[in-house]
Amino acid sequence: MTASTAGLGIRCEELVHIYRTGESDVVAVRGVDLVVAPGERVALLGPSGSGKSTLLAMLGGLVPPSAGRVWVGDEEIGGMSERDRLRLRANRVGLVLQGAARNLLQYATPAQNVVFAQRSAPRADRARLMPARELLGALGLSPIADTPVPSLSGGEQQRVALAVAVANAPGLLLADEPTSQLDHPARDSVLDLLDVVNDRFGTTVVVVTHDPEVGDRLGRTITMRYGRVGQEGQQGEQFAVVGKDGSVHLPDEVVADWPPGTQVLVERDGDEVRLRRRQG
Ligand code: ADP
Ligand code: MG
Repeated sequence: MTASTAGLGIRCEELVHIYRTGESDVVAVRGVDLVVAPGERVALLGPSGSGKSTLLAMLGGLVPPSAGRVWVGDEEIGGMSERDRLRLRANRVGLVLQGAARNLLQYATPAQNVVFAQRSAPRADRARLMPARELLGALGLSPIADTPVPSLSGGEQQRVALAVAVANAPGLLLADEPTSQLDHPARDSVLDLLDVVNDRFGTTVVVVTHDPEVGDRLGRTITMRYGRVGQEGQQGEQFAVVGKDGSVHLPDEVVADWPPGTQVLVERDGDEVRLRRRQG
């Protein structure tokens, strides 16, 4: 980290990812339109298999889109070479994969893990990065800076994994299920750390979770279902997203009452559009 970092915004247009697995293709992400503002905190919420991890991996340049487009800041990831995507991961985006242990060198301390991560930063950038101990201090991790990773609790390992992910001052932090398998105090300590990263450095934060409380804490929740972004919630309001073809994904409780095929009258009054079920 440096003293301050400009948060990077995200924009996805009709983003698709298909896993090609020999016989059958799995369409994991099927046309996601999404906008995240620079410096925003967002939870990506949805049931298992809904495409959250795949979407996050595309945002992090780990998995190339099969179709559609995605920008992080002003760079379009879809058109990037493998080399450019590696550069994106090295210094623009911090990615924490599911399972804290996968993100850390097990036979090293947190301080050594941060130093190691900073070695992948371009030489010209290294001088302006926050030294490992200072970064761990800013994130409240000084007391465990020299404790070998295997001796740390799950919540501590997760916080160290996040510290490592922001070691190179990325404008965007992506974390896949960083609070799963943690008890509530440990979960809250991880969320507190995300707040510090966002407040102090301006980093945009996107967290994949299946815990609605994590969404409440972060402020904005984007729901995924069957590979699509269904609805967006912010400060208690429900949003539906208009797709490029004009389709709107209605909130689940509306769909429960209005099954597919229901005819709906659309009434327009200035900025307001009202939907009413056609009777008879
Ligand atoms: P989530 O993170 O919401 O659980 P994923 O993005 O992991 O969802 O998975 C979305 C869909 O893609 C699921 O049907 C899953 O089985 C499938 N999938 C995920 N990874 C792979 C892969 N490497 N190969 C084939 N299918 C995959
Ligand atoms: Mg997942």
